[in-house]
Amino acid sequence: MSEVEYPYNFDKEKRKKARLYSKQKFYTGFVQGTILTLSILIILYFSGLSEVMEILAFDVLSYLPVNNYWIGGAIFVLFFTGVIYLIGLPVSYYSGFVLEHKYGLSNQSKGDWIKDQVKAFLIMQMLGIPLILGIFYLGQNYTELWWLYAGIVYFVILVVLSNTSHLIFFPLFYKLNEIEDEELSRKLTDIAESNGVDKVEKVMEVKAGKKTKKANAGFAGMGKTKRIFLFDTLLENFHEKEIETVVAHEMGHYVNKDIVRFILIQGLLIFPMFYLTGAIFNTFTSFENFYALPLFMLIIYGLYSLVDPLILAYSRSRERKADDFVLSVIDDTTAAVSAFKRLSDIDLAELNPNRVIELLFYSHPPPTQRIKKAERYDNE
Ligand SMILES: [Zn+2]
Repeated sequence: MSEVEYPYNFDKEKRKKARLYSKQKFYTGFVQGTILTLSILIILYFSGLSEVMEILAFDVLSYLPVNNYWIGGAIFVLFFTGVIYLIGLPVSYYSGFVLEHKYGLSNQSKGDWIKDQVKAFLIMQMLGIPLILGIFYLGQNYTELWWLYAGIVYFVILVVLSNTSHLIFFPLFYKLNEIEDEELSRKLTDIAESNGVDKVEKVMEVKAGKKTKKANAGFAGMGKTKRIFLFDTLLENFHEKEIETVVAHEMGHYVNKDIVRFILIQGLLIFPMFYLTGAIFNTFTSFENFYALPLFMLIIYGLYSLVDPLILAYSRSRERKADDFVLSVIDDTTAAVSAFKRLSDIDLAELNPNRVIELLFYSHPPPTQRIKKAERYDNE
């Protein structure tokens, strides 16, 4: 592990590649996530196709031994999300498979990629169908206060998922085991525990190398199940001092209560979102119509895009705080700068994005800013 070049400096070839890659990645993401999704929603609703899908869903229901209105609704949601998913599939294949291979960021096999897609789709259905039907159920039965009840349910789901998804869903995509390097494990746990993170349960290695070359780390769980997650790509390609700074950054999020902050923001924001969406939605249609789901999604999407830049700005400020935590705890500018540089090269990240793109899409400060800040810390 310690045989890597240290401190790391930018590689010219990688920088050239990174500029191309991040641009292509950004545009494909934007096309799929925004343009394509919005167009499909608009077309499905205004052409009447989603109404046809609802009729079809209840036709299918009539062939089934159970004749339950909500099962009909579930079939409609499945059709509807299935269509959106399938139309977006070529772009996600290009962005998630073709581009990753073209730039040497992945050696995942096509079969494994498809398996991951199927799993992700099933998880999305497992969570999405009850959530959507729940909203329509509440909308039909509590015309005045549906948004309040739906908001509470959403909030509870959010809290439960953020405490359990690393235990339930994460292992479905990655093999995990406790890291073998006991000395490193002890060191990282020590950094955590001497900085206000009591009792880290485990330091886990995520076997991600078969899927991606990108490096990552994370910290998950609360209470007694607090775990540090380190990608094998991080353990294998980074210097120990860099790994410490990466882990310290994640610790910083925990110590600064960022997970709780974002649960609260998301959880509290959903109440006015649901309220406003319902108010607009009900002037055009009603929750009796499953087929109006694309309209519901369009409205909530529109409202979210208005607050999204604010949430992102807040996220960037929390990331800066986590970086500050690293510098004050590790007190090693060289290691921090080296880690940022290596990470940017390995992930082929854009160092200095256009300011507008940063404001609209970046949850983290661009690498250049983070590096400059670390370098400035030395002089303070
Ligand atoms: Zn962070």
